Amino acid sequence: MTAPATSPISEANDDPLLWEPSVAEASVPEASGDSSAWRVLVVDDDQDVHAATDFALADTRLLGRPIELLHAHSAQQARTLLAHDRDLAVILLDVVMETPDAGLGLVQHIRHDLGMTTTRIVLHTGQPGHEPEHETLQRYDINDYQSKGEVTRHRLLTTLTTALRSYEQIRTIEASRRGLQHIVEGSAALLEAGELRRLADGALAQLARLLNTAPDGLVCAQSTDATTEPTVLARAGRYASQTGQPVEPCHDHPAMDRLRAALSQRRSIFGPDDMVLFIPGDGAGLDLAAYLHTGRPLETVTKQLIDVFCVNLRACLRNLELIERLRHLAYEDGLLRIPNRTQLIERIDDDTHDARQPRRLALIDIDDFSGINELMGHEFGDRVLQSAAQRLRTLLPSDVLLARVAGNAFAVYGPRGALDPANLSAALTAPLDVDGQPFRVRVSIGSCDDELFEGRGVNAVRNAQVALKHAKQQHRGRWVAFDRDMAVRSRHRAELLTRLNAAFNENQLFVVYQPQIELASGRLIGMEALVRWRRNDGQLIPPDTFIPVAERSGLIDALGDWVLQTACHDLLRLLRLGFDPGRVAVNVSVIQFGGAAFADRVLSTLERLGLPSQRLELEITESVAMLGEDVVQSVLQRLRAAGLSVAIDDFGTGYSSLAYLERLPLDCLKIDRVFVRRLEQGGEARVAELIAQLGHKLGLRVLAEGIEDETVRQRLLALGCQEGQGFGIARPMAFEPLRAWLEARACGALPGTNP
Ligand code: C2E
Ligand code: MG
Ligand code: MG
Repeated sequence: MTAPATSPISEANDDPLLWEPSVAEASVPEASGDSSAWRVLVVDDDQDVHAATDFALADTRLLGRPIELLHAHSAQQARTLLAHDRDLAVILLDVVMETPDAGLGLVQHIRHDLGMTTTRIVLHTGQPGHEPEHETLQRYDINDYQSKGEVTRHRLLTTLTTALRSYEQIRTIEASRRGLQHIVEGSAALLEAGELRRLADGALAQLARLLNTAPDGLVCAQSTDATTEPTVLARAGRYASQTGQPVEPCHDHPAMDRLRAALSQRRSIFGPDDMVLFIPGDGAGLDLAAYLHTGRPLETVTKQLIDVFCVNLRACLRNLELIERLRHLAYEDGLLRIPNRTQLIERIDDDTHDARQPRRLALIDIDDFSGINELMGHEFGDRVLQSAAQRLRTLLPSDVLLARVAGNAFAVYGPRGALDPANLSAALTAPLDVDGQPFRVRVSIGSCDDELFEGRGVNAVRNAQVALKHAKQQHRGRWVAFDRDMAVRSRHRAELLTRLNAAFNENQLFVVYQPQIELASGRLIGMEALVRWRRNDGQLIPPDTFIPVAERSGLIDALGDWVLQTACHDLLRLLRLGFDPGRVAVNVSVIQFGGAAFADRVLSTLERLGLPSQRLELEITESVAMLGEDVVQSVLQRLRAAGLSVAIDDFGTGYSSLAYLERLPLDCLKIDRVFVRRLEQGGEARVAELIAQLGHKLGLRVLAEGIEDETVRQRLLALGCQEGQGFGIARPMAFEPLRAWLEARACGALPGTNP
């Protein structure tokens, strides 16, 4: 036997996948293919024994291989020889040499000091009866003993054959153990590969290590349906170019033929000097095949080890596919198979474009998409998105990145020239094709140019979102570009929200009440509760400024509940003080109205405080229409069934259709002060008149707001409007001034108003 070959992969390599085998590691035995000689050491101080052994074994082959004899004439000489040569199959050893126990001392040295556990030892004793104790035989793992006098050629051959066979078996077991250990260690490293090419590189190195050869082969991948040519993933040895640059082996290379054969037959193939391993991807899309030049046929045990290796590699491949899939999930939109928000942000971050080619990000949001989903079903909604994505992809140049960033919002990012408003709007103006039917969508677009996001993806998306929000709130169906003012405003809003949160907790908010009267008689019929925010520095912030901020942040729910409770509580106080201000009207934001259990909360507040529900009017605006008719209907019905009244505030400024309005269970229309103002100085009265008539037709009360002088009141009366409020009647007042006002009225101190 020759010493195991040192691996030629000698360049230092930090990669855990590509370790080089150490010289000390035994290779897998090559029983069947190996023709090298068995190395047998004879240690005896009797020259005749050496001569006899030489003679007996000359030209003899045992287990198919010749024998190479080595000689030592004393225990000491044997120690010297073993100091540098330990690759021995069997040692025939004399017990009595320099000293009576020199032989056993040498055995102890071999087994314990040198750690040679594989080499078999056969003891020669002087005369019969001098055989070592059984315990000694066991302790030193001694194969056999013979008394010198009894040794015949036949006996020697039998003993040697047994020892060699046992040596071979031990080596096989040892090699399998090491091989398995390699596989276990290698699998850990392969699992860390994290990427297909690295896994393939690692597999080549590990296989070579298992066979104790230098990596010399190729790894290919092919889609499971075998519709494409195999792609080379890794190459080593003669298949890697000298320069270290990978070369694609030509397709008619014999190794490629072998790889193709394994992939198409879906099995591993072992040849006289090579092998191709087939590693199925288990239906996950990719099969692997590894071709390795072995230079020899492989023995059974090695093939078995390779089987185990393949099972491991298959597990690693599956893991890798899983990781790939997770990566896809993290970076790709599952429905449309286009980049998602995360990928968009990373791609903008990584974009190194020519500074002369300015960039733009535009977010395209399909208006009323929730309505489409509700009306036509989610599957139809999905197909609308698919069709829109397809339209955008076909119409936009290939250097524009298309992503989906939210349920109904796409993002397009690329050269500004390709993303101008005309291009984009045109892309989606023509009806989409959904299930073969034309389907028209309207989109709102918010964009941001690169000088305003400085190459940072998160900024780009955030700014474009601010612009989009702007578009959706104020210019539905249009394009709004983010500008510096918008940035300032959005920062202000954020600051305002922080301060509003603090104000809410620090009681800087309070409620004022504006009386509402019957215009003809001047009788007090109610009062509208209006929230106020006075900052610690005395500055008053108008509700028009902070209510939208509260709406956007969700604070409106808590704030609205608080206004409702305060208003009900204050009305109760007034009633207890003996005043009767009629009902209190509380403004309700559409966000509150659409929130969970809104009606429950209102009704439970009334019940808890003990205020009759007829004393409360809720003012909603036409914008509730966007919640969907079913929702609005059911909430309104519950509230009205409980005895509350409901007014539509700012009527005429929204978009709701008359047909829609007619179906809603309401009590009162409030004419917005914009139309009331037109009545001043003889202005046109058409809208106010129309609303008054409409109210009558629908059987609703009509209340005008913003009445600033007596002439307006007179004109409204003439138009048929019965109720009103305004600075001309009374300004909104905090609780104490209101009480004083009520008191003064009760004493008839307010001319022109009938108590
Ligand atoms: P709104 O509900 O239409 O309230 C009427 C607004 O008109 C009040 O403004 C009131 O002060 C003002 N006003 C009353 N009479 C006159 C007048 O003769 N001339 C003029 N120029 N204005 C008059 P305010 O208090 O600034 O409230 C503005 C808006 O803020 C309200 O409009 C309402 O939409 C909202 N708001 C106020 N308080 C609340 C609240 O507690 N909750 C909700 N959700 N919104 C509120
Ligand atoms: Mg109001
Ligand atoms: Mg109003």
